[in-house]
Amino acid sequence: MLRVPAERKGVSKTHRLDVLARTALAAPELPAGSRIRMLERVIAVQRAAVRRTSLQEVFDAVTAGAYDLLGDEIVGLRLRDRVDPGMLQMVSAHGVPDSVAWRLWRTPLDSCGAAGQAVMRDDVVVFDRYAESPGRIRELAESGVRAAMAAPVRAAGEVIGSLAVASRRAGRSYSPAEQELLAAFAEHVGAAIADAQAVDRLEQGFHDPLTGLASRALFNDRLAHALACAERDQTRTSVLTLDIDRFQSVNDSLGHAVGDLLLAAVGDRLRSCVRATDTLARLSADEFAMLLHDVELRDRAVTVADRVLQAIREPFPINSRDIFIDASIGIAFGAVGHHQDAEMLLQYAELALHTAKRNGKGRYEIFEPVMHAALKKGADLETDLRLAVDRDEFVLRYQPIIDLHSGQVNGFEALVRWIHPQLGMVPPLEFIPLAEETGLIVPIGTWVLREACRQAAEWNRRRPADEPLSISVNLSARQLQQPDLPQLVAGVLAATGLTGRCLTLELTESLLINDVETTVARLENLKKLGVRLAIDDFGTGYSSLAYLRRFPVDILKIDKLFIDAVATQAPGASLTGAIVHLARTLDLSTVAEGIESLDQCAPLRDSGCQLGQGYYFAKPLTSDDAESLLFTPATVPAAGPA
Ligand code: C2E
Ligand code: MG
Ligand code: MG
Repeated sequence: MLRVPAERKGVSKTHRLDVLARTALAAPELPAGSRIRMLERVIAVQRAAVRRTSLQEVFDAVTAGAYDLLGDEIVGLRLRDRVDPGMLQMVSAHGVPDSVAWRLWRTPLDSCGAAGQAVMRDDVVVFDRYAESPGRIRELAESGVRAAMAAPVRAAGEVIGSLAVASRRAGRSYSPAEQELLAAFAEHVGAAIADAQAVDRLEQGFHDPLTGLASRALFNDRLAHALACAERDQTRTSVLTLDIDRFQSVNDSLGHAVGDLLLAAVGDRLRSCVRATDTLARLSADEFAMLLHDVELRDRAVTVADRVLQAIREPFPINSRDIFIDASIGIAFGAVGHHQDAEMLLQYAELALHTAKRNGKGRYEIFEPVMHAALKKGADLETDLRLAVDRDEFVLRYQPIIDLHSGQVNGFEALVRWIHPQLGMVPPLEFIPLAEETGLIVPIGTWVLREACRQAAEWNRRRPADEPLSISVNLSARQLQQPDLPQLVAGVLAATGLTGRCLTLELTESLLINDVETTVARLENLKKLGVRLAIDDFGTGYSSLAYLRRFPVDILKIDKLFIDAVATQAPGASLTGAIVHLARTLDLSTVAEGIESLDQCAPLRDSGCQLGQGYYFAKPLTSDDAESLLFTPATVPAAGPA
């Protein structure tokens, strides 16, 4: 639980009101009834302050107390406006006639009668002849007010308002005891406000202002408390940590304001996935945590994780566009019956989260001790990857793209490999996600683009001018977000001498989901260079062809998943056929990815698919092997009888 230090609770100091209460009890000049009423009023004010239900309650108790004890017709508590401190704003009042209420609601200091004067002079002011008093409120004078008194309200050494009373009684004058009483009430208001501000400041540290969820500090506190209870009650506690996949790209492409709205919406969605008694927190930028208390925990934690993943995948409508995201989750369970450190358990959950990210994102993992070792390896990999960029440890492989009708090599897809000094050849799926996460993909991708274009231009110089090869290069989200991408590509084409038409940039569907306008504009600029654009792994994303048509795309690369089904399942062939057909109607050409057998090849070609790529023709080749393939074409398997 959140523990507010004891001295912060309620009004801390002994105020004049308490002193007054004590003297009231003993004051011989006051009748017994007045003394009791006074006590009641003092107690009411103090109770309101201590309960801390709301400042308004304290304000109302104060005006009610002053109204009752001083016996004047009108009481008003006003505070200076935070934005415009020259204005006084009424926050609680008694006996204000309706006809002048509008006039008293918000008033400039210098025309607010006794209330304004008390603020300006920082002292108790008493006007026995109201009609002649400085800054008097004409409407009040006209309503018959004859005398008024006000005391300043101070908080943190500043005058922040005043408490005023006004009387229509003839000959009303205010005794020193009455002045003291009003000052005491005013002082109580100030103390309550100062106190509320202090507690607010304290609590702010415990809540995340963006999502309204608990902060890391509060989460740790609750977790420690839950673990202590679990140890005592022999129950189990579980921690789930969640991180939005590729949140940085939302921020980069749509701006931080949209990123903030998205985080707030994620917070709301998470709330709907847990019980009211569970604790939800935002730990850092896009990392959230959930604390679940339960006996039958294992199942429930997994159920919650599943529910959360599903909820996060639903589109987030923000600023009239749908944002699609995914998340990864790490789960750690507290030990039953013996002490466990809160920080450690959270660390376990974060390790599991890390593992979920490494295992492909959009999933959950449950903590296991072996994850420590894996994390170490991951951390080493990251350091090594940074070094690899400087040390030039990347090479390209070239996978031929074949014309399914002629069997000729139409071009190549450049696929990057990392030659790690100890681990040897690291496949892209093992380091590209890490490179994207760390931003290293930008320099790596630039190198790939340069090298691929250089190589293709060199090969093209050795080929007949009317049979140029095209080279396909994969682009990652981070690269597409670089505003200078078109200039970079233009520079590379110019430096290597490759014709724009011979370069195809491969994008995945997920790259095209966010910030449509900026992406389209950037792609249009690329198109002006003659470059062609392909949708890679088509069919694995969520988007429809109609959606993709908003982008200036030329080629669809049908994912291996569909190609696998071509030879084995009748619907597989017809589905691929339908994609090819639809693509043709939209004037898009098609490349079948991952063709592994002749059985797959023939139906694809018959359905009108122009190009294919896959182990059936060739695995990704070294530049030397690609060269011998190019210049001795008989080595490519035929695409089947035409
Ligand atoms: P991708 O762009 O879809 O590339 C095709 C992947 O399928 C390649 O894997 C290729 O070796 C593999 N493949 C091709 N034919 C067959 C087949 O018949 N059977 C099977 N089982 N697989 C086949 P690779 O080289 O491991 O690359 C994996 C992914 O890594 C690529 O998928 C691409 O998304 C990414 N990648 C590779 N190079 C780069 C790069 O330079 N930049 C970026 N951003 N991503 C890259
Ligand atoms: Mg590709
Ligand atoms: Mg692909």
